[in-house]
Amino acid sequence: MALIVQKYGGTSVADAEKIKNVARRIIERRKRGDQLVVVVSAMGDTTDDLIKLAREVTEQPSERELDVLLSTGELVTSALVTMALRHMGYEAISLSGLQAGIKTDANHSRARILDIDSTRMRKELESGKIVIVAGFQGVADDMDVTTIGRGGSDTTAVAVAAGLRADVFERYTDVEGIYTADPRFVPEARPLRDISYEEMLELATYGSKMMHPRAIELAGVYDVPILVVSSFTESPGTLIHGEVSMEIRNKVRSIAHDLDVAKITVVGVPDRPGIAAAIFVPLAEAGVSVDTIVQNASINNITDLTFTVAKSELARAMKVVEPITRSIGARECVSDARLGKISIIGTGMQNNPGYAARMFSTLSEHGINIQLITTSEIRITCIIKESLVKDALRALHRAFRLDEKT
Ligand code: ADP
Ligand code: ASP
Ligand code: MG
Repeated sequence: MALIVQKYGGTSVADAEKIKNVARRIIERRKRGDQLVVVVSAMGDTTDDLIKLAREVTEQPSERELDVLLSTGELVTSALVTMALRHMGYEAISLSGLQAGIKTDANHSRARILDIDSTRMRKELESGKIVIVAGFQGVADDMDVTTIGRGGSDTTAVAVAAGLRADVFERYTDVEGIYTADPRFVPEARPLRDISYEEMLELATYGSKMMHPRAIELAGVYDVPILVVSSFTESPGTLIHGEVSMEIRNKVRSIAHDLDVAKITVVGVPDRPGIAAAIFVPLAEAGVSVDTIVQNASINNITDLTFTVAKSELARAMKVVEPITRSIGARECVSDARLGKISIIGTGMQNNPGYAARMFSTLSEHGINIQLITTSEIRITCIIKESLVKDALRALHRAFRLDEKT
């Protein structure tokens, strides 16, 4: 008898019909004689709706109370899935994060999972029940409810799979796996058979919101292979794992994009020690997370410093940077909030300059100007105008022949 952990995302449990569909999927698995722990997300846009509701009551909700409120989204789903299973004649029980033993630190809205006490989950499994766990939440030492960051149900599910040493972890969603690009933007995109943890981590970090980067990181550390499959069709899905075969090691595997990019340039910065610290320390203290940073080579000891932030953080970042611009004697500080990011990803790109050349020439053939470039060993990212991201995606998808079967 195998122990299976499954996770169903918000799109898979968006209404009562979909919840019944999920219950039927769970039962199919159960009929094979396996033990099952199922982690669920909140229904559809519930979390966004709850945040909106809190903001209608107060502009600055207490972080503790916001966590109490947001945790209810996943609780609703866990109870409804359990009811559906029981209605279909199967023994099941829902567990909140606290009951499932998900222990976190006390950082509300972005808590980290520290430990899983699986005693209760094991007890329920041994009594023959299907266990439905509310994702995205845990409990701190003082027994306060915490949430673990947007998209955190994936992280809960990986942690549960690792904590229970599950034989298989299946992550159900509304598409047939991990695609060569977001299928909503590139109709020719196709599901990959498999992808490495490192590639998936870059994909998740550089745009594809479909899985939380922390979940992938955790899966890599504990070596929990993730099978990403559709809740609605029968397809083999994509395996995210550590051993990817040699022939696909030498390719661009997928293209990620991110439309949430704003750029700030501090122009005419005197090039002397301490300038970067003068700008970035106050930004960090204000809680603004800065992404790409580029400093031009200086001419006559004057340089430009450019960095990117999420669009939602631009106003806050400008408020911090404008007075600093004056105090360090820089000329001015300008911003652009209409940018996007496009990244080609694949292990085996290192040591092969051909990939960068092909990316840049494809963009230039399509008249797309590159504003910033950053790279890792397995990724090349270009920042371009937001309105050109879709064209760039499709052009690169063709140029790297991602629509062809591997
Ligand atoms: P869930 O509700 O299961 O968490 P999400 O809506 O968060 O689902 O994520 C699934 C969506 O992610 C897909 O519908 C798809 O549009 C989008 N997506 C973005 N990039 C990719 C990709 N490379 N492969 C598959 N889906 C992607
Ligand atoms: N419901 C939470 C969110 O929308 C967590 C999740 O779905 O993974 O962010
Ligand atoms: Mg999701």
